Amino acid sequence: MGYNVTLIPGDGIGPEVTGATRRVLEAAGVAFRWDVVAAGADVIGKSGTPLPDSVLQSVRKNKVALKGPITTPVGSGFRSVNVALRQALDLYACVRPCKTYPGVPSLYKNIDLVVIRENTEDLYAGIEFESGTPEARKLIELAAEAGRGAIREDAGISLKVISESGSRRIVRFAFEYARAYGRKRVTAISKANILKFSDGLFLKAAREVAGEYHDIEFDDRLVDNMTMQLVKNPQQFDVIVAPNLYGDILSDLCAGLVGGLGVAPGANVGDDIAVFEPTHGSAPKYAGQNKANPMAMMLSGVMMLRHLGEEMAADKLERAIAGVMAEGRSVTYDIMLDGAIAAGTAQVAEAVVEKLAAS
Ligand code: NAD
Repeated sequence: MGYNVTLIPGDGIGPEVTGATRRVLEAAGVAFRWDVVAAGADVIGKSGTPLPDSVLQSVRKNKVALKGPITTPVGSGFRSVNVALRQALDLYACVRPCKTYPGVPSLYKNIDLVVIRENTEDLYAGIEFESGTPEARKLIELAAEAGRGAIREDAGISLKVISESGSRRIVRFAFEYARAYGRKRVTAISKANILKFSDGLFLKAAREVAGEYHDIEFDDRLVDNMTMQLVKNPQQFDVIVAPNLYGDILSDLCAGLVGGLGVAPGANVGDDIAVFEPTHGSAPKYAGQNKANPMAMMLSGVMMLRHLGEEMAADKLERAIAGVMAEGRSVTYDIMLDGAIAAGTAQVAEAVVEKLAAS
């Protein structure tokens, strides 16, 4: 018995934080049958690709996955496995809650917001034209012929693709999420004053969809103003919905408001599949050192329990994690108070398991 869940440990700190999370999920009293599958640079030799079909098949079959971060080479090499997975499974909504927990050092108190990021379009669609290639030249000619302006001959081009259907779908998701989780307001983010045909389309769709939800407030912000307002008065925000790139940047910013990436969970959600992974990456410099904070991954596990309908276990696990944070004795370097001694990844898991046992 138990839930069939795909487990992708990832690389860098991934295996350590997923291992710690698996431990606390099981200690929360829910049974799982884990299908452990590998993706990333390490499997290229054997599979010829960093994202083998077997990984996609497992997630499609189980419909739920817990995923550690996977390294993406910068500038060259293979494209992001994380982005490819979201696109292949059409996990169009990235849900990233940011909440202040007592005991976690942060610049603010009483923040409880959620960033919902569109996951499949925008500059992340991966439609790029390398500088100097015949394709890039063709596009440059097309822009000139269409009277859209001169692009320098040596330019590399990445397309910002935003569709009306994709925008409606993510904004509707944000409103449905707000309803399901008792939230009051949705704020849409764009740069529609400058990018009229892409962000303008997103904002128009957002305003139209908002008209269907009279029980939830709606407003919108330009992304530059939004960064300033988030730093000045983050407590005013509730659910934030954004196209892919702004959502990516704002969710790291919001993680910083509540204590950092070590406490920022996330989920990538489609119509019938959900992959739970923290906002942070593989932090290669801490790989294998028992230093990384597993709490972002554990809180992603809490989100997974809620998704599975295991509300009681989710509440219990979140309380146990919050308890360990509040005591501050068994926390990693990134959220400890000045002068304290940092706990290791495994020690944090141990402390959460003890809290669960005592609850
Ligand atoms: P990162 O999130 O790995 O690290 C940013 C900073 O936060 C570093 O100082 C790191 O040490 C720290 N940090 C991150 N997670 C932490 C944790 N759990 N506990 C304590 N400290 C933590 O971002 P990066 O350095 O920009 O990226 C590293 C690699 O991760 C890159 O290859 C990137 O492409 C990849 N990445 C993967 C994902 C994903 O798998 N979804 C997401 C983001 C980045």
